[in-house]
Formats: sequence, structure tokens, C-alpha cells
Amino acid sequence: MKPPVCVTVTGPAGQIGYAAVFRIAAGAMLGHDQPVHLRLLERDNPTSRSSLKGLMMELADCAFPLLAGMSSTTDPKEAFRDADYALLFGARPRGPGMERADLLQANAAIFREHGKALDAVAKRSVKVLVVGNPCNTNAAIAAKSAPSLSSKCFSALLRLDQNRARAMLAEKTGAPVHQVHQVTVWGNHSPTMFPDLTHARINGMRALDLVEPDWVENDFIPTVARRGSAVLQARGASSAASAAAAAIDHMRDWALGSAGEWVTMGVPSDGSYGIPEGLVFGFPCVCRGGDYEIIQGIGLDDDARMRLDRTKEELLGELEAVRPILER
Ligand code: NDP
Repeated sequence: MKPPVCVTVTGPAGQIGYAAVFRIAAGAMLGHDQPVHLRLLERDNPTSRSSLKGLMMELADCAFPLLAGMSSTTDPKEAFRDADYALLFGARPRGPGMERADLLQANAAIFREHGKALDAVAKRSVKVLVVGNPCNTNAAIAAKSAPSLSSKCFSALLRLDQNRARAMLAEKTGAPVHQVHQVTVWGNHSPTMFPDLTHARINGMRALDLVEPDWVENDFIPTVARRGSAVLQARGASSAASAAAAAIDHMRDWALGSAGEWVTMGVPSDGSYGIPEGLVFGFPCVCRGGDYEIIQGIGLDDDARMRLDRTKEELLGELEAVRPILER
């Protein structure tokens, strides 16, 4: 058996955290030969403390062979010390009367603090996934708050959007989802995202030869972009198990490789496709050797370019709104 690695999870007693930690401890994220030590960071309030205590009792009761240990804390520096992997679910939910701008400010402060703590104490090779919304900008804030870590240590969850897009295309064409490849979601995890089928293949055929342009424009793109709201309305709570599954897919492929598959990751732009450096943007990537690369050379027509520009402009606006927090 390999030596254990340290996986830090923030907000573990929240909806997504609760759906993720049991699968991480069971080996779904890092493989069935990789023991993990779970470090759980919650806020210091009586409700969270009590839920976390119950969660840890349940984890113990699963007797997972790969769970080498677990600990909880309310101190980010203790939580991120020597972390190999960090899944950042912990975030302030949008409360009644709260505008998107208020949410941006409240969460910016959390991700500033977590970025600084990662900078001070995490392994230099740490892989960080930000799920808490607005996840692209929160990941950009964490990366900018951690100047001694490579910006490639930081990423945001766009995989849920890609999974939704693959599933919708599979359902439309009647193909099993494992035959659907090269679906990309560009940009922000928000309604401006661009779910792109231009290069998608189904069992070796071009997806665009199998579906009507009208379906892509008026059904597929808006449905994927607004799927989170539809789940919220149906369930009375936001996506949890599907978000946890996507977070595990994202980390597993990053750590163990994507076997040539295109995977959508929110990563700091290196200038690819004209996206300004530092914006955390959904790009098609391939993962190998514990690293990712943005796939280069994908053709973008005028419509795609216009959609990329729109989501880029939104992200630039978000980053501008949190600039005062980054200067603190
Ligand atoms: P919950 O509100 O159920 O859970 C959030 C948890 O985070 C709570 O336990 C909360 O504790 C905790 N928390 C808040 N602040 C901190 C902090 N500073 N440090 C540590 N923990 C903290 O939310 P969900 O699990 O449903 O969602 C988590 C985030 O993921 C949300 O921001 C949501 O919008 C986002 N999301 C992202 C998706 C994506 O695809 N990128 C998809 C779906 C959701 P307490 O109760 O004490 O406040």
C-alpha cells in the first residue's frame, strides 16, 4: 500500500461536502490503492460543530480500509498544513435579499484567507479545486493570494457543466454517455458559459451531424447553462451529489490522468484563446503525469468567439469587483 496523502476538505458538513467525503475515503478519487488522511475545515459555530461530529462518527463507522486518519479544525492553517489535495466547498450561500455582488464580496474574503493559508503551509505540489461559488473568481482570488505556489495548483469546477452537457447530448442521440467525447464548456460557471459541441464526437461521428442546429442553439446551450437553477427549483436545494461526483471526476483525472479524454477544467489562463492571463476560465484540457494542459489549436468560428468574449467580459467584471479585497 502507498503512504497516505493528505486531503483537505472545507465545508465538509455542507450538502456537497457530505456527498463527497465518503467517496473520497472509499478510494473513488485517488484510486483503490491510495490511503488518505482527511482534514476537515468547518466554521466555528455550534451547528457546524455538531454536524461535523456526526459526519466523523459516520466516516468511522464505514471502516474504510483506505481512511488512514481524519481530523477536524476551524483554523485554515492547520487544515491546509502539508495538504496534497484541497477541495474547497466551504462558502457562504446566497441568502435572502443578497445580490450576486454581495455574495462575491463575502466569498472573496473567505478565499483570500484560504489562499493565504495554502500559500503558507500546503505542499508546493498541492492540487486545489474550488467549488464554492462564484467558483472561477474564488479560484482566481485564492491563486492570487498564494504567490509562492504555482498558479497551476489552482482550479475551479466546470466539470459538472461538462457532465451535464455530455449527458444531455447522450440522451438526445440515444448513445451511451461513454461514447460521447470532446464536449467542452468554455468560460464562467454561470449562465454566460458556452457549452460547445463543435468538436464533439459520438462513437467516432461528428455530433453536429446527428443533431439539428436549432436544438443546439435554442435547447442544448440554454438548458446546460441553466441546469443548476432547474435542479434547485425541482429539489428545493442546489445540486449536491452531482456536484460532488463532478469534483471527484475532476480531481481523479488531474491526479491520475484523463487517458487522452478532453476534460473541462476551470484553470488560470496562460493567454490561450485570447483569454487574459490570471482569469480562471473553463478550457478543454488533457491530464497526464499529475499535470494538465490546455488543448491548443481548436478552431473557433465567429459565433463561438462572441460567446467566449461574453463570458470573459463577465469574469473580468467579477475580478474588478473584488480588487479592493485583493489589495488588502
Ligand atoms: P452548503 O451551504 O450546504 O455548505 C457550505 C458549507 O461550507 C457549510 O457547512 C458552511 O458552514 C461551510 N462554510 C462556510 N464558510 C466556511 C469557511 N469560511 N470555512 C469552512 N467552511 C465554511 O453548500 P453546498 O455544499 O450546497 O455548496 C457549497 C458551494 O458549492 C456553494 O458555494 C455552491 O454555490 C457551490 N456549488 C458549485 C457548483 C459548481 O459546479 N461549481 C455546483 C453546485 C454548488 P456553516 O453552515 O457553518 O456556514
